[in-house]
This record gives sequence, structure tokens and C-alpha cells, in this order.
Amino acid sequence: MEEVELIIIGAGPAGLFATFCSGLRNINSVTLEGLGKYGGQMQELYPEKLVYDVQGVPKTTANELAKNMYEQAIMLKKPIKFNSNVTDIIPNNDKTFYIEVNGVKAYKTKTVLICSGVGYFVPNKLGVAGEDKYAGRGIFYTVKSPSEFKKKRVAIVGGGDSAFDYAAQIEPFATDIKLLQHNGVLRAAENSILNVKSKAWIKILLNTEIKRIDGDDNGITSIHVFNNVSKEEEDIPIDALIIAIGHKAMPNLFKSLPLVTDNRYIRVDTGYRSSIEGVYAVGDVANVSNEPKFALISVGGAEAYIAINNIKKYLSPQSSLFGEHSSNLNL
Ligand SMILES: Cc1cc2nc3c(=O)[nH]c(=O)nc-3n(C[C@H](O)[C@H](O)[C@H](O)COP(=O)(O)OP(=O)(O)OC[C@H]3O[C@@H](n4cnc5c(N)ncnc54)[C@H](O)[C@@H]3O)c2cc1C
Repeated sequence: MEEVELIIIGAGPAGLFATFCSGLRNINSVTLEGLGKYGGQMQELYPEKLVYDVQGVPKTTANELAKNMYEQAIMLKKPIKFNSNVTDIIPNNDKTFYIEVNGVKAYKTKTVLICSGVGYFVPNKLGVAGEDKYAGRGIFYTVKSPSEFKKKRVAIVGGGDSAFDYAAQIEPFATDIKLLQHNGVLRAAENSILNVKSKAWIKILLNTEIKRIDGDDNGITSIHVFNNVSKEEEDIPIDALIIAIGHKAMPNLFKSLPLVTDNRYIRVDTGYRSSIEGVYAVGDVANVSNEPKFALISVGGAEAYIAINNIKKYLSPQSSLFGEHSSNLNL
């Protein structure tokens, strides 16, 4: 079992900056991210949105910001391991912790910094007949590679930004796109709606609900839809169905760690220490008791900076609380 000084949980903006800061303070750390990619909410929920409120970055997409944060995070060679879901944190009598990854005890550590944000994001399901049966066989919840839809007849469910973004992304490849929306309200950004409406082969079907997904041994072949205004029903032949009706966050439970929480937040002090010695928490998952929470990228970064310096002091009491300015470095 690998022994380290610090385990950082999560590679969202807070965990990425914490990873960089642990390099600044020469802490022997490993960062564990449950998903196969970095960026947390930035990549999972709003990759194409523009962000304006990060210091020194007047305007950038969340995706680009995540890339830059990752580049900075690995600059000082601190490892980040993906597909590493921390399933439990088990305290030992000697003030160390076992870290269970994907159900297996994988690390022994002196400290833990929890940057798990709002937890995992799992796509909302439609909950209709055929959805589970044809999962992975023509049903998609995100678009990772638009060219995958080349020459395909595609239906997209949803009226928000993701649904319209996906329609625009696959439009150069798909032969036919139907965008299905159930209550007549399009919530996507106005420009996205105008863009999609200008494409002749994207048809928006309002007030339309999927009743059933049909298919054969090779995957889905059609959807059975219902117009909740006209009450008409029809079968629409398709090759792929993209379900873009949002994500829900799964809270994290480290069952062996009796953390004090306030509602959904891990309660921390102003040094980002949790109720358990050696365990710290920052970013969207943590809150200083009785203070309002500013769930923002730059705030999580500042919290990570403070936490890492406190962790250094905890690990090496003889060291200074503040390390040095990064402008002293020659990287
Ligand atoms: C639509 C939208 C727009 C936003 N716009 C802005 C904006 O313009 N400006 C701004 O400052 N903020 C914005 N925010 C808020 C900002 O994205 C969050 O404050 C920020 O992402 C929080 O960072 P975090 O690292 O604490 O958590 P997250 O981004 O939630 O990252 C947590 C990471 O931890 C991982 N994780 C969770 N549990 C585990 C586990 N058990 N094991 C391993 N890994 C785990 C997750 O997979 C995830 O990658 C926006 C948020 C949303 C939803």
C-alpha cells in the first residue's frame, strides 16, 4: 500500500489548485479523481460557457479554464489519478487514514483534503420503457465525439443549453436531427436557439414526450412519441437518442469518517480544518460554520491555498505557515 502525506480528493478547480499548492510546499501528495477527466463542474456541466470572474482571466470558456488549471496543477509533478473514486476514508488509531479507492484500500495517508464539490454528476434518466434495455446501444447522455453521429438520424431530448449545444455540435455530421421538448419552454441561450433554428435539418418538436424506446438486437431503431397538446402519437425512426435533461449530483459519503456537517457542507474552521484532526475540506463541499458560502472557482482556489499551508504546518510543525511567493521560483 502506498504511503503518502496527503490525499487530495477531487480534480475540480479546488482540487487542481490544491495539487499545485501541494507542489509549492513540497508535500508528498496524490490527487484522486473519480471521473476520467479533470475540471469538475466546469467540464461536466458547462464546458462551453464563458467565465469572466477569475482573477487575471477576463474571458474564457470553462473548458479552456479547466485545461489551464490542469496544466498548472501538474506543473510541479504532483500525480493526479483518474477513475479513482474514493469510496471511504478509514481513520486509524495513530492519526493516519486508509483511503479506499474503488472499494479497495489503496493508500495510507497522514492528511486528507476533501475537494469533492457537489459530488458526482450522474445524468438524469428519462425513465421510459426501453431506456435501460438499449443503454449503450444508441442511447447517449453526453456528446463526447460529434463525428460519432455521422449519417445518423438523431433525436435529442431537452430544451436547455446542453440539448441545443449537442444539436449544434452534431449538425455537420447527422443526416436528420429532431429536438424534442416536453413543455413548450426552451431554456437554452437565445443565440443557441437562433443558431439551431437556422439549420434546415434540425426540427424542434415542442410539447413532445417520449413514451417508449424500441429497438432490435443491434440497438435502438425508433422512439414512440406523444404530443401532450394535440394528443397525437407516432413512431419516429432513429439511429441515436441523446438524452440531455440535466445531471444530478450524488453526495459523497465516507461511511467510516464521522465528519460534522451543516446541511450538505462539511463544517470547517477558517483554516479549512474539519471536525476530524488531519482532515481538511475546501471548495463547494465545505463551509465555515454560520458564514454564507461563495461557491465560486476563485474562492475555492483561495481556500485550497490556505488549507495546503495549514496542512504543511500540521505535517511539519517546524515549517513556516506561509511558504514563499511563487515569483521566487524559476520553473
Ligand atoms: C452552470 C454553472 C455555471 C457556473 N459558472 C461559474 C462562473 O462563471 N464563475 C465561478 O467562479 N463559478 C461558477 N460556477 C461554480 C463553480 O463551477 C464551482 O464553484 C466549482 O466548480 C467548485 O469547485 P470544486 O473543485 O469545489 O468542486 P467540483 O467542480 O464539483 O469538483 C469536484 C470534483 O471532485 C470529484 N469527486 C467527487 N467525489 C469524489 C470522490 N469520492 N472520489 C474522487 N473524486 C470525487 C468530482 O468528480 C469532481 O471532478 C458555476 C457552476 C455551474 C453549475
